Amino acid sequence: MTIFRSASFKLTVFYVFIVMIISASFSAAVYQISSAEIGSCMSRPALYIRQLSPDNPVRSIANELERMRGEQMGESRDHLLVNLVYFNILILLLSSVASYFFARWTLRPIEQMMETQSRFTADASHELKTPLTAMKSEIEVNLRDKNLGSSEAKKLLQSNLEEIGKLENLSNALLELSRYENKSEKNFEEFSLTETITAAYEKVEKLAKGRNIEFETNFQDLKIRGERQSLIELFVVLLDNAVKYSPKNSKIEITTKKEMRHAEIKIKDQGAGIKKENLPHIFDRFYRADSSRSKEKTGSYGLGLAIAKSIVELHSGTISAESKAGHGSTFIIKLPLA
Ligand code: ADP
Repeated sequence: MTIFRSASFKLTVFYVFIVMIISASFSAAVYQISSAEIGSCMSRPALYIRQLSPDNPVRSIANELERMRGEQMGESRDHLLVNLVYFNILILLLSSVASYFFARWTLRPIEQMMETQSRFTADASHELKTPLTAMKSEIEVNLRDKNLGSSEAKKLLQSNLEEIGKLENLSNALLELSRYENKSEKNFEEFSLTETITAAYEKVEKLAKGRNIEFETNFQDLKIRGERQSLIELFVVLLDNAVKYSPKNSKIEITTKKEMRHAEIKIKDQGAGIKKENLPHIFDRFYRADSSRSKEKTGSYGLGLAIAKSIVELHSGTISAESKAGHGSTFIIKLPLA
C-alpha cells in the first residue's frame, strides 16, 4: 500500500536522523577530547623550552623539534577528523539499511491489521450484495410482466422476505462480532458451567431432534466467572455447528472437566470433519470450509466461529479444533475457573 511505503520511508529517515545525531555528537566529543589530549602533550615540553636562556643551543634544536611536533599535531588532528568523517559515513550507510528493516518491522502489525480490516469490509460488502442483487433482479423481472397476478406477487414477496431474513441474520452477526471485538468493559459474575451449557443446548434441541441427533453428556460440576449470556452464545454457536455438520441419527458428546486452573469443555461430533488444510482458517471471519455446501444448505456466513473466538478471548480462554475429514470434529474450549 502506498500509505505504508511513504510511512516506512518517513520512519526510516527519522531513525537515520536519530542515529546520525548520536553518532555526530559522539564523534564531536571524541574529536574535542582527543585534540585537547594531543595539545596538552605538546604544551609541557614547549613551556620547558621557553624557560631556557635564548643563547642556549638546545633551545634552537628544541624549537625546531617543537615546530615539527606542532605540524605533527595538526596532521594528527586532520587524520582524526578524516577518520571520524569516514566512520560517520559508514554509520549512515549501515543505519539506513538497519532503519529501513526496523521501520518495516515496526509498521508490519499495523499493515496486517489494515489488510485484515479491508478484507473484512470487502467480504462483508460481498455478502450484503448477494441477497440485494437477487431481490433486485426478481423485482425487475416481475415488474416487466404486465400480467403479474396476485399469486406471483405473493411468491415474489415471499422470496424477498427470505432474502431480507438473510440480510438480517448477517447484520446481526456483524453487530455481534463488532460488539465482542471492541468490548472493553467486563460485567463478569460467577455461575455454573453445566447450567450455561444446558441453556445453550435448549436452544438447539429442536434442530437436533429434527435430525434425530442424540446428545451424550459427561459434566463435572464447575463454577466459572464471565458473562453468562455471552457464554451461552458461545455454546450455541458450537452446538449449532455440531448439529448442522453432523449426519442424521448421529451422536454429539459434551464433556466438561477441571484441568489445572481451567474448565475444559469438549464438544465432539460424528460429522464429516474438517480437512487439514482448512483447519487453521475456520476461526477467520467469513471463512467457510466448503463454501457452496455451507451456504446453500445451512444459510451460514462463516462468522459463527469468529464470534466464538472473540467470546473466548474476552474471557481470557482458548479455543481450538481437532478434526480429520470423515472422522468428526472436536472443539476444545478452556475457560478460567472462578
Ligand atoms: P458457518 O456459519 O459457515 O458455520 P462458522 O464460522 O461457524 O461458520 O464455521 C466456519 C466453517 O468451519 C464452516 O463453514 C464449516 O465448514 C466448518 N465447521 C465448523 N464447525 C464444524 C463442525 N462441527 N464440523 C465440520 N465443519 C465445521
